[in-house]
Amino acid sequence: MRKFVSLPTKIMGLLMAFLLIASASLTYLWVNKNNQDFYVQQQTVREQDKKQFDLIRDLLRTRVEFWFESFVHFQANYADNIDATAFFFEHEFDYLQLNWQINDLWLFNSKLDLRFTTSRTEKNYILNDIEQVINTQSSVSHIRCVQECQQQISMPILSSSGELVVLSVSSSLMEALAAVNRSTFAKLAVLGPENASLNAVELQNLIIKPPISFANREFMQKILTALPKDLPLSRMLDSGYRLALDSNVYLLNLLPIDPHLENPIYLMFVHDISESSMAHNQYQEQVLSTSIIAVVFCVIALFLLTWRIRRRLLLIAEQLPLLAQKKYQEFRTHKSVKSWLFSDEIELLQDSANLLSEELESLDQKIEQNTRELENIAMYDRLTGLPNRNMLNHQLKKLLAIMKRESNKLTVMFFDFDKFRKINDTHGHDVGDAFLVNAALRIRGCLRDSDMLFRFGADEFVVAFLENKHSEGAPFLATKLIESFREPIAVDELLFYTSSSIGIASSVDSSILMDDLVRQSDMAMYASKDAGGNKYSTFNDLMQKAVIRKVELENEVRDALEKGEFSFALQPQVEIATGKLFGFEALIRWNHPERGFVPPDEFIPLIENTGNMLKIGYWGLNKAFEILQQLDELGLSDLKIAVNLSASQFLDPDLLPFLREQIKAFNRNPSQIELELTERTVVADIEQTLETMRQLKAMGFIFSIDDFGTGYSSLAYLKQMPVDIIKIDRSFVSGMSDNNADMQIVSSTIAMVQKLGMQVVAEGVETCAQMKLLQSLSCEIGQGYFIARPIPESELYQMLSEKLQLGIWDKLDKLARAT
Ligand code: C2E
Ligand code: CA
Ligand code: CA
Repeated sequence: MRKFVSLPTKIMGLLMAFLLIASASLTYLWVNKNNQDFYVQQQTVREQDKKQFDLIRDLLRTRVEFWFESFVHFQANYADNIDATAFFFEHEFDYLQLNWQINDLWLFNSKLDLRFTTSRTEKNYILNDIEQVINTQSSVSHIRCVQECQQQISMPILSSSGELVVLSVSSSLMEALAAVNRSTFAKLAVLGPENASLNAVELQNLIIKPPISFANREFMQKILTALPKDLPLSRMLDSGYRLALDSNVYLLNLLPIDPHLENPIYLMFVHDISESSMAHNQYQEQVLSTSIIAVVFCVIALFLLTWRIRRRLLLIAEQLPLLAQKKYQEFRTHKSVKSWLFSDEIELLQDSANLLSEELESLDQKIEQNTRELENIAMYDRLTGLPNRNMLNHQLKKLLAIMKRESNKLTVMFFDFDKFRKINDTHGHDVGDAFLVNAALRIRGCLRDSDMLFRFGADEFVVAFLENKHSEGAPFLATKLIESFREPIAVDELLFYTSSSIGIASSVDSSILMDDLVRQSDMAMYASKDAGGNKYSTFNDLMQKAVIRKVELENEVRDALEKGEFSFALQPQVEIATGKLFGFEALIRWNHPERGFVPPDEFIPLIENTGNMLKIGYWGLNKAFEILQQLDELGLSDLKIAVNLSASQFLDPDLLPFLREQIKAFNRNPSQIELELTERTVVADIEQTLETMRQLKAMGFIFSIDDFGTGYSSLAYLKQMPVDIIKIDRSFVSGMSDNNADMQIVSSTIAMVQKLGMQVVAEGVETCAQMKLLQSLSCEIGQGYFIARPIPESELYQMLSEKLQLGIWDKLDKLARAT
């Protein structure tokens, strides 16, 4: 994690750094300028020192020269010849010594012969000076230090006789030094090499040369020893040196007195600059402290000025993370500070943050609400409010886990209404929905609190509960449920009498898969349904086997279609009154290579809703056209072929195009094709069915209602439909002879159907008595074993030529004539 430094601190830091740099550079500039001034000042002092010294030295020299010249000039007789001059100087020497500080005196003739001297020692350098004077004909002056430093002035004097005399005097420097001291206020000392033969280039080789007062010498000596050992002479000569000693500051200037000499000697000026140096230092201290104060002041001012801004920023920085933590309430009540006068970016930021918080909060609420809704949709049924199929899976998992721990029995009960579809179809979905809500309440009313109820699908409910291993609560509950639905369910003013089919599956084995348990209860429910409904069944292995057989059959049917194992048997239909052949019903036959003959009742219900059923259907329709063509060839061109259509076939969008194709291919009027629908087919989707019927009718097909009387369609329905023939179900015909009720149904049906302008076919006519009864009820057409059993197509054409005479079915010839 990176170290956190707040923004205001960063800004403050930057500003402070900037301030520091600015003030440091300003201070530096000032101090530097001051130093330079100070230096220049010192340089000026140096220049002045030098000028003063040169001036005074030259003044003294010219004074001496002038004096001697005028002396010789005014004492003319002493200037006659060199001896006279020598005599004069000898006499006046004391005076000269006293008043002119002349130490010694030499007199040479032009041949460099020393004619007179007051000196007891011989000095070679004088000869050099004299030689120079003779050569240049002008005076020469040097300052030399032997025992004491002296100014040696040599000058030419012309005697009255015209002889050149050279006078050389050595005069003490005392007067010159005193004069310089007076004019420069500096303490002075002459420095020279300790040893004349030494080439004095180093400062430390220089010693103080007389003349110098005792006090002065001591002071100067102190100065010299205080000088740093490595201070180069050149530096001292160039720019002088500032020396701090005993709380005083001195400016030392060193000047070569006579640069023409081999061993130069120097004059050291010592100025006491303590005061000006102090002033200089004070100035610098002032500058420094001023800038420090300025910086500190600015920093404090900045700190105070930005305090509010920093505080506001900090508050926002503390506040914003609350959004991420979804603490909206805290976010709103969090303290915030506004700017005093004008709004600014921070305020904009604050406003945006507030907006954002509102947006986020409402978004959050929406998400929460949606999530809740989604959870509900996912887990609960919207209509009944009951937990749904997803919840069933969820709960079953839990129950199985409990079952494992407590080793009890888990029961799943599958509940399905027997004729719910009818309610939906006849009264609409709103009534159907209301029915389901009430039904769910009634089911719930039958259950204990611990039983769980789920809506599984449309009219399917599932009850799940745990019970003791040895308890048998399920059959008891199932009976209770069935009993409870004996009472009708009311929706608005309508009363619905319904029944239900229940399947029960239980397991004490916790390793059973919940899907298996539900499937088993579903199978048991279907078993109840197959057995006529309004009852419960408990799952057993036979049901499982039936299901397996169904799956096998589905596969086999597919193979059979490919192998051409299907064929038609045709059962004749005759006009009861005349015995005339009316047509045939085409009944499918499956000759299984291993199982032999498989009756349609066995496989058709099983594959009813599969794609194979459609294929069989199309195969059959095509076959019917082929049979009609065959019959044509026998000269029987007005017979009808009735083909059974399954419900799914009738709703298949390919049906119409397929039949159109057939009509075209066989170039035949479809009025010879009779399409048989059961009442169940019709009610599956009444609107769609009617529409398809109308279209097929328009193409020329005719319709019959099969197994009439077993379903729940009313005659009122029939009126709306383009139906041509009604087939009275076999069960009524067979019961007709000894059951008055059946007799009544058959007779009234015949009467009504004829009133509606339709024809009646009596199915399953097995006896002559039935035939006669039907004849007496003026039923038009009969079909049944009494007339003929279904004839395999392969035998049909042969048989027709034998059995049919003038269109009359052989057997009925007599019967017709008898009446
Ligand atoms: P269904 O349409 O009611 O056909 C009449 C059934 O009654 C036929 O049984 C027929 O053999 C039988 N039957 C005819 N006369 C008598 C009689 O006097 N006494 C008795 N006891 N039975 C008689 P089948 O051929 O076994 O067909 C059973 C059902 O299978 C048919 O009932 C029909 O619903 C269905 N089916 C047959 N062929 C087809 C088909 O090609 N397509 C479709 N979708 N269903 C077919
Ligand atoms: Ca039929
Ligand atoms: Ca039938």
